[in-house]
Amino acid sequence: MTSIRPQPGILDIAPYVGGKSSVAGVTNVTKLSSNENPFGPSPAAQEAVKRSVHELHRYPSTDHASLRSAIAEVQSLDPERIICGVGSDEILHLLCQAYAGPGDEVIHTEHGFAIYKIGALAAGATPIEVPERERVTDVDSILAACNERTKLVFIANPNNPTGTMIGLAEIERLAEGLPPQALLVLDGAYAEYVDGYDGGARLVEARSNVFMTRTFSKLYGLGGLRVGWGYGPAEIIDVLNRIRGPFNLSGTALAAAEASVRDTAYVEKCRSENTRLRVWLAEALAEHGVPSDTSMANFVLARFHDEAEAEACNSYLQSQGLIVRQVGSYGLPHALRITVGDESSCRRVAHCIGQFKAGER
Ligand code: PMP
Repeated sequence: MTSIRPQPGILDIAPYVGGKSSVAGVTNVTKLSSNENPFGPSPAAQEAVKRSVHELHRYPSTDHASLRSAIAEVQSLDPERIICGVGSDEILHLLCQAYAGPGDEVIHTEHGFAIYKIGALAAGATPIEVPERERVTDVDSILAACNERTKLVFIANPNNPTGTMIGLAEIERLAEGLPPQALLVLDGAYAEYVDGYDGGARLVEARSNVFMTRTFSKLYGLGGLRVGWGYGPAEIIDVLNRIRGPFNLSGTALAAAEASVRDTAYVEKCRSENTRLRVWLAEALAEHGVPSDTSMANFVLARFHDEAEAEACNSYLQSQGLIVRQVGSYGLPHALRITVGDESSCRRVAHCIGQFKAGER
């Protein structure tokens, strides 16, 4: 038995479990469990990856200047306020590491993304879970939970795994009501799916207590290359850059992300296809007696009568080669989160859930 012990809090962390990608004994599976883009990355990104192999012996850029300029140009942002990370996960971790420690509190919502709690515990801080209202972020309960120990408040908008979102006026009210030492982190992993929503970028520019995170893993289809970014006040970007790994992103990842962000036509096609299929899927499920909240992201949270029914439906879908996500660890054991796939996957999953509900399995 070793006397070498981790920092307090680390053993309270339940390791993150990713979406399943295989089922024993079932071949030819369709993965709808990790909110990935079913159409894959832009062809321009794939070309950039091929070109990048000629530079594999070189260390990559440390300041990510070229990717930051591309993001800034396309999204009309200030490149100096952008930081790039190994997925937005890294940015969320860096925020915890830099701004929360023992004795500090980090607020996240009831059905919030797992990394907020993991990041807080890893930094030695105390995660505080606040209730949502019918699976929607509730600004009043967040404000009621704030005190002089609150350092970070994480909300995902749209939220994962619920898909719901709150409006900019509510976010502004939250930012306005926070204690002075607290930073509001707007996790915009799914922001690109919402037409006309900037993820909170303008709010970041208008205030000193708001930070936004974004990712290339979802709409841009680059989950496998791990690229995310953050946009925040210049002083916070400076702090995070002091602790991030100098070569955190590979040249391949940087090149692919830059090509993706510039391929706006491809991104637009993926976005509109997702909206069309998400609406179709939610309606098809409702017709089979499976309700879901209005999702603004690339997944639908299908609600069943109880945990046993959700579990049975999940097993049936798996037997048919369809992998969706159980979200019991997010406090939603009676629900299944289904990624909006391509048209044939959406039709198949709706058809199989219909069979399940009709008892025809
Ligand atoms: N935030 C939310 C709400 C997410 O759902 C995810 C991915 N599941 C992330 C952040 C992290 O994504 P990535 O690290 O791939 O950018």
